[in-house]
Amino acid sequence: MSKKTKLLIIGSGPAGYTAAVYGSRALLKPILLQGIQPGGQLTITTEVENWPGVKEIQGPDLMVNLEEHAKVAGTTIINETVNKLNLKKYPFIAISDNGTEYEADSIILATGAQAKWLGLKSEDKYKGFGVSACATCDGFFFKNEVISVIGGGNTAVEEALFLTNFAKKIILIHRRDNLRAEKILQKRLFSNSKIEVIWNSVVKEIIGTENPLSVKGIRIQNLSNDKETELSCKGVFVAIGHAPSNELITDQLELHNGGYVVTRPNSTETSVPGVFAAGDITDFKYRQAVTAAGMGCMAALEAEKFLSEQK
Ligand code: NDP
Repeated sequence: MSKKTKLLIIGSGPAGYTAAVYGSRALLKPILLQGIQPGGQLTITTEVENWPGVKEIQGPDLMVNLEEHAKVAGTTIINETVNKLNLKKYPFIAISDNGTEYEADSIILATGAQAKWLGLKSEDKYKGFGVSACATCDGFFFKNEVISVIGGGNTAVEEALFLTNFAKKIILIHRRDNLRAEKILQKRLFSNSKIEVIWNSVVKEIIGTENPLSVKGIRIQNLSNDKETELSCKGVFVAIGHAPSNELITDQLELHNGGYVVTRPNSTETSVPGVFAAGDITDFKYRQAVTAAGMGCMAALEAEKFLSEQK
């Protein structure tokens, strides 16, 4: 099956849905393909306290609201994932996982980012058996256990705080001697008696049993004196940042800073005219829901301008 559209939006985080609202209001009748995780990263977080105008909302609820808004505005939202994208042809061609071919006069790429891993063999081995990158998904399995959280940014601190709902103790392991996370989150972390922070340390190995596969602990190295120590824990949550989800376009668009899509200054225009990038796929600096939404708005306005100039 093949479908034609003036504007194809790929991705369903704050950038994609905001682009959809603006694209619909410009009467471009956008089609939005949601991808493998409809709603994106916010669907695996808990409270969001920095979306302006809403003091507190659960991440999944915020994404349901955004989806509903995009739908009501006039976007056709389809639960498919793009497997192949051809930006060398015009109109552009996207092929989804069920084989549908989308022919698009313009594209907004809003595929976001995904969690990074430490890259240890033992991490790979115990993924899903005690090693996770999603506290909201897997925290429940560690009731009254000791859990390690790796990282020093907002995600690590939020995950550590969330995991105190289940675990008896959380050990946060950070490679430096101060955290990158927002001060308000740090304050909550330091005042929580269930959380211990181990500074200047990195994980060298995740230790576990073979049959059944399960985590028993971790071996960490103190970077100030190179000393290695083993700690007992049943769960390891890796929260060391995110990498852009750029698989569709690695050899088609200009990239920089470890795979983020290059956009022109103060614009969402990419190296291919008619293709715009918004949110975590291009933003290596702010990476906030609200900045992603702002870029989604810019991308839709720029797509509209591009399309009107084509005529
Ligand atoms: P960040 O990039 O902010 O932090 C990653 C952390 O992991 C850093 O402390 C970093 O250490 C550490 N790290 C990176 N690589 C390694 C490694 N190989 N081994 C050990 N530690 C490592 O990522 P986050 O996922 O925390 O946040 C991403 C973005 O999303 C940020 O802009 C953040 O503000 C935002 N965010 C906002 C939230 C909110 O507003 N509520 C919630 C969650 C995320 P170092 O500090 O030494 O570089």
